[in-house]
This record gives sequence, C-alpha cells and structure tokens, in this order.
Amino acid sequence: MNIMNKVRPNILNLAPYSSARDEFEGNGEIFLDANENPNETGLNRYPDPYQLKLKEQIASLKKVDPNQIFLGNGSDEAIDLVMRIFCEPGKDNIVISNPSYGMYAVSAAINNVAVKKVALSENFGFTASGMLKKADSNTKMVFICSPNNPSGNTLNAYEISKVIENFDGIVVIDEAYIDFSEQSSFILQLDKYKNLIILQTFSKAWGLAGVRLGMAFSSPDIIKLMNKVKPPYNINILTQKEVLQALDNKKKVKEAISNILQEREFLISALSNLSIVNHIFPSDSNFLLIRFNDSQPIFKYLTEKRIIIRDRSKVKHGENCLRVTVGTPEENRNLIKALKEYQS
Ligand SMILES: *Cc1c(COP(=O)(O)O)cnc(C)c1O
Repeated sequence: MNIMNKVRPNILNLAPYSSARDEFEGNGEIFLDANENPNETGLNRYPDPYQLKLKEQIASLKKVDPNQIFLGNGSDEAIDLVMRIFCEPGKDNIVISNPSYGMYAVSAAINNVAVKKVALSENFGFTASGMLKKADSNTKMVFICSPNNPSGNTLNAYEISKVIENFDGIVVIDEAYIDFSEQSSFILQLDKYKNLIILQTFSKAWGLAGVRLGMAFSSPDIIKLMNKVKPPYNINILTQKEVLQALDNKKKVKEAISNILQEREFLISALSNLSIVNHIFPSDSNFLLIRFNDSQPIFKYLTEKRIIIRDRSKVKHGENCLRVTVGTPEENRNLIKALKEYQS
C-alpha cells in the first residue's frame, strides 16, 4: 500500500506555513526575524516548532528515531490532525470499536467524517474480521484503543496485527494506558507497518495531564504530513521544559506506576467483597470498570458524598457499570468505606 495515495489531495499539495524559525537554520546572535518582544522574560521567544530536544529524549526512551515522533497538544490534537490528513469530509469514514474513547467520534463529527462502529463482545474483546468487515471503500482509518477506555482491557495483539496487515488504510492504535499494561507496545512493530500510527500521552502514567502533551509514533512520511498540518508552535515552552524535566526522572514515573498497580489490586480485592458489586472487568489500565447490581443509586450516593466517578451505564455492554480511576491509597480507602456504608 502506498500511504501517499490515502492522503487528501489538498493536504498533499499544501504549502505549509513557513515560520521565521523554519527559514533560518544555524546559529544567530541577534534575532530580529519573528516580531518577538526583545526584552527577556524567559518566555519572550517562540518555542522550537519541532521540539527537537524533547524528541531526542523520547526517541531514546522509546527506541525510535526522532523523525518517527510527532508531539501534539494532547493526543487529542494528533487524533484531529490525522483525521484531517486522511479523511475527505462528507465522503470518507472511519471504523471504531464500540465502546471506545469518545474523542474519535467527536473529532470525526467536527471534521464531517462518518463513523462506523463495531460492537465489542460482552467482555469487550474484538476480532480482526469483525472490524475489517465493517470497512468499505471509503474507510480511510481504523481506530483501536488498547488498553481500551472505558473497559480497561488490552485487545488481543494477534487480532490487532491482523487488522494492520489486512486493512487497506491507516490503523491508529491508541496506547494511552500502555504503561499500566503487561502487553508490549506496538511501537516495536513500527518499522514493519507503514500504515501504523501509535498514540501515547504524558497525561496518564506520567502524571502530566495538565501540560497537554501527546505523542504519535509512525513512519517518517506520516510524521512529515502531521508536521505540515499542525499549527506552527503547537507545543509551548513551559510544556517542553516540564516534560524534559520529567524525562530526567524516569524512576519516579516507574514508582508511580507500580504504586497505582498495587492500589488497583487493593481496589479489586476490596470491591470483590462487596455484595453490591456484580462484576469487575479485568483491567490493564489505571481504572476499573465495575458492574453493580444497581448502579444509579450508588452513583448518586457517591456524588452526594463528593466522590466523583464516571457513569458508563449508557455505553454499549456497560449496563449498570461505573468507571473508577485508581486514586491515592487514602482516596481508594475512602471510596471503599463509602461503598460499605452504602451497602449496610
Ligand atoms: C486519556 C486518554 C487519552 C489522552 O488524551 P490527551 O489529550 O493526551 O490527554 C487518549 N486516549 C485515550 C483512550 C484516553 O483515555
């Protein structure tokens, strides 16, 4: 498959905005090219449009080349950009699983791209053939979320590979929760599959949801297209600095992940002892999808106690389900205490 044949013609032909920092290469001393304010505030200069320092660090961490990395204002920016690169509004469509992360459908709707949904099984599993069958000649992209939100499970890696190998278009694997999973990332397969885009984020395991930094990993050709379409200075200086610092202390992140996994186990065992709980779905993420016997009064009760969890009872196969993010040890014990009080 030639990826370039899948790109919208207007994007292929696009002459991107060329910023002052794009046009000057080399070492300057006096910068009078970008209409910045010359007075030092620490932030008076535009940021590096391609975040090269940051990408070098991420490249070494993920064992890819910097030219296989795109950085966005959250993964949400990457989701929107790839849709705009490949999907012709009013004509093309995407295939997603149901239930899955809500942004794929929202981004598609904003871009006037139709969405075809494939129901997951009752245990939130999927098959490649089910997904591939849904695709038609106008399907440009398939989105796979693994571990899946809101169910928490990783999807079968063999089935995912079959989708990548057999789908005649772009496959996006959203790995926002991969650091909590035992499954290895599909980043290892990047060189094998030119139609693959992997999304990861600093919002979950890295504890940096506030800085808004999402990563896309793909073939250099696709990364080039993303760079061409993105706003010139999409990652601000503050974000770049914070994330560089975080990358300097990977041990801290590892510890945080291991604490969250331990707390996840605590929640699972404490919840299993409650008679109001009907089922806890297996989780490879930092949250649990829990089926209660009757979820609505519990959701309301917790809200009144100012404990906020996510009502997922209306999503496909989510009857009576609530989604709980793993919190601090204290928060988790407060949640369990409240549920025990409710049940007695
Ligand atoms: C939280 C989450 C993200 C992260 O989005 P950001 O914009 O990077 O914060 C992406 N995908 C899924 C499935 C998520 O649950």
